[in-house]
Amino acid sequence: MAELKGKTAVITGASSGIGEATALHLAQAGATVVLAARREDRLEQLASRIQSKTSADVLTVPTDVTKREQVEALMHRAEESTGSVDILVNNAGVMLLSFLENDHVDEWEQMVDVNVKGVLFGVHAALPGMLKRGSGHIVNISSVAGHEVFPSSAVYCATKYAVRAFSMGIEKELSRSGIRVTNISPGAVATELTDHITDRAVTDKFSKQELKALESEDIARSILYAVSQPENVNVNEVIVRPTNRK
Ligand code: NDP
Repeated sequence: MAELKGKTAVITGASSGIGEATALHLAQAGATVVLAARREDRLEQLASRIQSKTSADVLTVPTDVTKREQVEALMHRAEESTGSVDILVNNAGVMLLSFLENDHVDEWEQMVDVNVKGVLFGVHAALPGMLKRGSGHIVNISSVAGHEVFPSSAVYCATKYAVRAFSMGIEKELSRSGIRVTNISPGAVATELTDHITDRAVTDKFSKQELKALESEDIARSILYAVSQPENVNVNEVIVRPTNRK
């Protein structure tokens, strides 16, 4: 079992899917976990589940990652309560796929706000403490959509390319500072992510396809792998795709 005892991990988008599974895995490895997302009830349910399964300390901080001051307050609460933010998992995201001709411009804006600005705000708020201590680990969740572009996904892919470019940039800037950076690019994972798509042309297409998908736990294990490496090892990029096996 990986050992994260004494470390604090802040996980955004912890109320479902990959974030929820990651919080549980990191807590099982001994980390204090700080759970952030907008749905407070879901964070409280997860906190109870973690407390019943592990001896880890858990803090819930309802947060909208599109609001800079809320992300600053999240990191402040985490540092004040636990002493430091050692691991930041920038996971919160939305995938509001639509065909461009249908002009879902509000959803384009929401994707940029959550997927890109949310990640930037997370780094902005966590970095000063990490730089002061000369250690820390930033994990950004991009996607295979940060490596390839698909029809109906132009804006979502643009946000995930941005996350990956940002990960590469901060890795280069921070490599001598003791702060590690990991960009995780999952393929399809069975979560609530597709439930929020409103473009009927896209949902019709999805319902006709038999998609192979990973489970959230598969990605949580990749994150745990990256953050539990010895201090001299910096896992910068992980791509995880499903196979056709059950
Ligand atoms: P889910 O929909 O299950 O989880 C998304 C999480 O993001 C929720 O916890 C949601 O919480 C949170 N979130 C959304 N908007 C905000 C906001 N404004 N402020 C704070 N939190 C927010 O999907 P996944 O677990 O699949 O997605 C997690 C990440 O993985 C995303 O970045 C996604 O792009 C990425 N990814 C997912 C893949 C997949 O196939 N599922 C593949 C590749 C990447 P709440 O609504 O409570 O705020």
